[in-house]
Amino acid sequence: MSEFKEPERIQQSRPTIEGAGVRLKRVFGPREAPLVDPFLLLDDFHSSDPKDYVAGFPWHPHRGIETVTYMISGVVEHGDSIGNKGAINSGDVQWMTAGNGILHQEMPQRYEGMMQGFQLWVNLPSSKKMMSPRYRDVSKSQIPTHAPSRGIDIKVIAGEIGGTKGPVQDLVVRTEYFDVGLGPGVALEHSVEPGHRTVAYVYEGAASFGKERKNIVGSENLVVLGQGRKIAVKADRRGARFLLASGAPLRERIAWGGPIVMNTQDELDLAFRELSEGTFIKTRQS
Ligand code: MN
Repeated sequence: MSEFKEPERIQQSRPTIEGAGVRLKRVFGPREAPLVDPFLLLDDFHSSDPKDYVAGFPWHPHRGIETVTYMISGVVEHGDSIGNKGAINSGDVQWMTAGNGILHQEMPQRYEGMMQGFQLWVNLPSSKKMMSPRYRDVSKSQIPTHAPSRGIDIKVIAGEIGGTKGPVQDLVVRTEYFDVGLGPGVALEHSVEPGHRTVAYVYEGAASFGKERKNIVGSENLVVLGQGRKIAVKADRRGARFLLASGAPLRERIAWGGPIVMNTQDELDLAFRELSEGTFIKTRQS
């Protein structure tokens, strides 16, 4: 195994319409899921035109996954069927474990200027798909920045780098989630757990990934990194900002039905039957 993780795949995010008509960019989804295990999906929603997003994501269910919403700028109001209610504001993160089931709505609010946010889905292992739901609401001020030298700033949402620990801990699936900023020409190396899968999504500027620096990856591109113990990345002369997520692969079967992701078709059928019969929600407290 080489020491450094080299890019296995680089691809552009795809325009997609979701929810009640939100125009977003899908970074990866069902077709890439086996390659990005334990992650399932990443959406990038950004627009300066509220018509692209105010329709939002009205009432819908989730089961078997975690959804991680990270707002760069803008506000998403959130409410669920068991009475949780709140807003995810600029810089905030909501790490929601849907577990055995929640019904919720996520409504981006009209915002002056560029609204931008991301939603990452982390799969749950079969043994935890039916756990009780839980929320980790993390405000911007609780997210530390690791800035070891000029031109590097890393917002640490989950995991650890250089002694800086993210506020989201005790995760079901061991996951690191950083928002990394590199100045022009600045390089970064970071060790990850052996065997963990790493994905990066460049959303500003451009950077090369891997020690061989064969490719320059521009904005709105996903990089799936291969085996190795270390991530190496270098921003080009524009500098770069990117999301960096690593996690322990589950290596389980995936049965995917829209917002519900289980292991078998029977489990999916049961979930949709429970939805139509009104017995989907198992845990009233979260
Ligand atoms: Mn949702």
